[in-house]
Amino acid sequence: MTPTRSAVELSDGRELIYFDESPGSGRAAYPDTRQLPPPPPASQLRYDPLSDEWVAVAAHRNTRTFLPPSDACPLCPTTERFASEIPAPGYDVVVFENQFPSFSDRIVPDEITQVTDLVPVAPGRGRCEVVCFTSDHNSAFGSLPPERVRTVIDVLADRTAVLSALPGVAQVFPFENRGVEIGVTLHHPHGQIYAYPTVTPKTAAYLRAARRHADKTGGRNLYADVLAAEQEAKVRVVASNEHWTAYVPAATRWPFEVHLAPHRQVPDLTALTDAERDAFGPLYLDLLRRFDGLFGKPMPYISAWHQAVTGEGRELGYLHLQLFSIRRAADKLKFLAGSESAMGAFVNDIVPEAAAQRLRDI
Ligand SMILES: [Zn+2]
Repeated sequence: MTPTRSAVELSDGRELIYFDESPGSGRAAYPDTRQLPPPPPASQLRYDPLSDEWVAVAAHRNTRTFLPPSDACPLCPTTERFASEIPAPGYDVVVFENQFPSFSDRIVPDEITQVTDLVPVAPGRGRCEVVCFTSDHNSAFGSLPPERVRTVIDVLADRTAVLSALPGVAQVFPFENRGVEIGVTLHHPHGQIYAYPTVTPKTAAYLRAARRHADKTGGRNLYADVLAAEQEAKVRVVASNEHWTAYVPAATRWPFEVHLAPHRQVPDLTALTDAERDAFGPLYLDLLRRFDGLFGKPMPYISAWHQAVTGEGRELGYLHLQLFSIRRAADKLKFLAGSESAMGAFVNDIVPEAAAQRLRDI
């Protein structure tokens, strides 16, 4: 069943949307009692002519909340003692605009000037949202029931449709950072959605490769061909069901990385059928269980939805989830040092086939 959607306005004008698993919750009746200052202006985009990439400069983000005590968690429902970001006393899944967004529609025209002739500047127009997966502060995505995962997928599909339609949005990226090792600043189980004003550097590189492959093969989709090859080879496949396959990419950069892809080429989450949405949760939860089982403790991870761009090259996109961790041993993390950070050249200490075997064995 599609979640019931009710939107409210927070005291500083930001939008918050409750997505309830059953109708009639009445959550929208609770007002935000806080007196918040206006949200900060959008960041500034600066073009780096050397790397041909845009960089968002968002000075105001340094003041964001950093690991608050659990009785002052901004993502828990509001209680009598603490008014959080969520005015209602409970929720299923809730989405709201980030208080300290990297991208927003609050553009300050005077800031948009040129740095030098070679460095154009553009407004950081777009939107950044926070998605709370559960009102339970001490839970984790991997502990959610499959029905809640289905709700989350429906919510992300809703947000993908809405944000893709905003003026100037080039791509929509839902993701979850998990674990302080990754840089998480709030423990409450949550993800984020970035609606970018430009095609990101990674996606631009994927599009170049996909375009080249299509030109060479009479229009074949690169990701579909990679997935078919992995299904055939089997050695890097970790798990699968009727609609999805999870595999370790053959040239993975991270110690443990899995792609979870639907068997049908769809551009983004909005295009998934009911059956595909239902089938995602059990397989993804199984993967998260395997990740946590690798070293017998919660695995820090980044979970990233790759979706088609909204403009040129959209037909080349193939929705998939990239799940990876920086943990390479029980007490060792992979840091992005000289080769990775300065050169973008990854050195991976774990053979992908061995990583797939270890994940299968859990
Ligand atoms: Zn919380």
